[in-house]
Amino acid sequence: MIEKMDAGNVEEMISLVIPVYNEEGNLPLLMNRIRPVMSALRRPWELILVDDGSRDRSLEILKGFTVHPEVRVVELTRNYGQHAAILAGFSIVRGGIVVTLDADLQNPPEEIPRLIDAMEEGGFDVVGTIRRGRKDSLLRIVPSRIVNMVARKITGVRMTDWGCMLRAYRRTVVERMIACHEHATFIPALATHFGKRVTEIEVAHEERHGGKSNYPLRKLINLQFDLVASFSEFPIKLIMYGGVLLATLGVCFGAFLVITRLVYGAVWAAQGVFTLFAILFIFVGLQFFALGLIGEYIGRIYREVRKRPEYVIEHVYGDESLSAGGSA
Ligand code: UDP
Ligand code: MG
Repeated sequence: MIEKMDAGNVEEMISLVIPVYNEEGNLPLLMNRIRPVMSALRRPWELILVDDGSRDRSLEILKGFTVHPEVRVVELTRNYGQHAAILAGFSIVRGGIVVTLDADLQNPPEEIPRLIDAMEEGGFDVVGTIRRGRKDSLLRIVPSRIVNMVARKITGVRMTDWGCMLRAYRRTVVERMIACHEHATFIPALATHFGKRVTEIEVAHEERHGGKSNYPLRKLINLQFDLVASFSEFPIKLIMYGGVLLATLGVCFGAFLVITRLVYGAVWAAQGVFTLFAILFIFVGLQFFALGLIGEYIGRIYREVRKRPEYVIEHVYGDESLSAGGSA
């Protein structure tokens, strides 16, 4: 099919990439809402649905969607996580503009035309989004606000809302992201690195249509660490500076103890034993903390040097002539 399309046509094409993990209850409505929006655009489009090792009937439902010529379904061998799934989708996109969104209908497909307009009118490479009237529990919103702020400070990446995946990228930016071969990545942040002209628009946000969030606290914390660790060496620097400061304080305190020992004698020093214990514990605790953090980085280096693929595609359903069937 790609041979039949001239270059201009591919440039015009909009590719949607949606990661799917246990979303069986949301998929039919997702499809029903996307199709009218995309046909109203009157330009070629494709929909790439990536099944991220779902354990429910999602894959079956997705395969059923391939009766529509626009749809291709990527089956991954297991659950690799949302960002890896999106990258797998990126590896087979054809369009000049690539839009990512979630499968749970929290990102209304009706906003897609606005993203595309913003991109084309302003000549932007990346169109980010800010969720207007975010429909999540306070328990999610408050930590997310703090995380947004910290992430902005630490990584220096200017992005208002880190969590919203309804975003549009130019194909060149997508290609640069695929070329990264980086594990544990965070696509919106990576994109702002590779896109020269970046903008943000406000989009609506809805409640999850069905099922429950795939991000328990554990996964969220992991994702935040991915973000901080892959875009800065801030934690390591923090340990270094903290270590220097503590060592200096320790030396000063040691000197203080020696002087008081000389001035007040041994009796006073023996009474200070418990203070020393307390200090020792603080130091030991800090050392463990530092070791843990260093270990986290070493673990990541280890994963990187093993060069294990970020995802493995089992099969691509849909337009058979285009089946990539590979890994990255
Ligand atoms: N997702 C995925 N793999 C995962 C977790 C999530 O592909 O391991 C997909 C999920 O199907 C959804 C999107 O990523 O389309 C966002 O997930 P979710 O709605 O659970 O996250 P939240 O909105 O709660 O942050
Ligand atoms: Mg969601």
